[in-house]
Amino acid sequence: MNTATDTIAAIATPTGRGGVGVVRVSGPAAQAIALRICGGCPPPRQAVLRRFFADAAAEPPDAIDFGLVLFFQAPHSFTGEDVLELQGHGGPVVMQCLLDAVLAAGARLARPGEFSERAFVNDKMDLAQAEAVADLIDSATAAAARSALRSLSGEFSAEIDALVESVTVLRVHVEAAIDFPDEEVDFLSDQRISDQLQAIDARLQSVLHRARNGRLLREGAQVVIAGKPNAGKSSLLNRLTGTDTAIVTPLPGTTRDVLREHINLDGMPLYLVDTAGLRDSSDSIEQEGMRRAAREIAHADLVLLVVDATEPPQDPRALWQSLSPLAVEDARLLVVLNKSDRSGQPAGRVDAHTVAISALLGDGLDALRTLLKEKLGFSAELHDSVLARQRHLDALQRAHQHLLKAGEQLQQGRGELLAEDLRACQDALGEITGAVHADALLGRIFSSFCIGK
Ligand code: GDP
Repeated sequence: MNTATDTIAAIATPTGRGGVGVVRVSGPAAQAIALRICGGCPPPRQAVLRRFFADAAAEPPDAIDFGLVLFFQAPHSFTGEDVLELQGHGGPVVMQCLLDAVLAAGARLARPGEFSERAFVNDKMDLAQAEAVADLIDSATAAAARSALRSLSGEFSAEIDALVESVTVLRVHVEAAIDFPDEEVDFLSDQRISDQLQAIDARLQSVLHRARNGRLLREGAQVVIAGKPNAGKSSLLNRLTGTDTAIVTPLPGTTRDVLREHINLDGMPLYLVDTAGLRDSSDSIEQEGMRRAAREIAHADLVLLVVDATEPPQDPRALWQSLSPLAVEDARLLVVLNKSDRSGQPAGRVDAHTVAISALLGDGLDALRTLLKEKLGFSAELHDSVLARQRHLDALQRAHQHLLKAGEQLQQGRGELLAEDLRACQDALGEITGAVHADALLGRIFSSFCIGK
């Protein structure tokens, strides 16, 4: 275990007023701090009511508050170190006085995410789990919270560890065959290696699918609504936001400087941006509005192209090009043929990229939602999705690429290179749980957490 020599402290509850506020302390001085603030340290894991003083030994002692004291002895704590929790009354002034007293007693202020970082360093949890702590707290929907909890409980990490294990077994086999060549058998022509490579990749694909879904749950999808004036964009936006529960939980760390509607599509946060709205926005400089619209379109997961179907038919691609100089590949384009009540076309799915609706009457909205989820690759039925970050998806993708290359090396009979690709695959997977990591990566991850976490 890595033992830190300094003791950290922070207010663990949100700023503002509440019934209870918690100052959390972790490190070797936790017991001494309890002695100084409360006049004694309670037995581990027993809640004890105590008065809190700036210095309990002073004459007369200067009382700050009173509340519950909890002590967790190393290594049986969140961080793996001695941890002290002072649960006082949740007012900003009381909490600050209590924190000041703890700092004066020998702790230093924790950096953002430092409690979780210590938990990681002390093997209390791996990197994916530490990230899941932050993601659980930041969850924007109940479905996202459930899948964050699955990641936090180690389900995602267990999947990754199992993949790493099977890659390792295969790698050991290959390397042994290289080091101790058997004259009789050419191991590279052994079908079992190829079979195992395929089995591992199939498993990896399934994890990737669950993780992709989890990323959508965590980060949501950006959907831009575009179309000619009067096509029915605003009506569609109102339909979508009116029937779905709009919950306003801004994603931390992202500035959303354009007006967008936030809806919850079967647990996936969906950010709808009306490009017309961008142009009419309070921004008086038209060019700035256009620039923002272009940026939205470039970053969008999907573009909903709303077409007035009562007008003479037009090729959607040509229509898009008349609206925007930006290219949008077919996979990101969903054509909505609106005004089915007057166009004569029945509402519902037309093909894999097109749906007919009536924004006025609300017909075809379910078909639109289904197609939206389909095109985004989101399945609400996937109850085992694990909350994942882009970082995890990138690592899984790289691992997949290395497996593909390993397959090629095998076919070409290049044993050494096959072993090398298996090692690279293993490393990519190890980055997810932190088994393989660079210090810079850790710094980046934990510094995005809030203080006290
Ligand atoms: P936007 O300019 O693209 O935002 O279009 P609006 O949503 O403001 O709609 C333009 C006009 O078309 C309004 O008069 C709407 O009532 C009408 N409209 C929108 N959707 C439908 C529809 O499904 N059927 C019919 N008949 N009219 C619609």
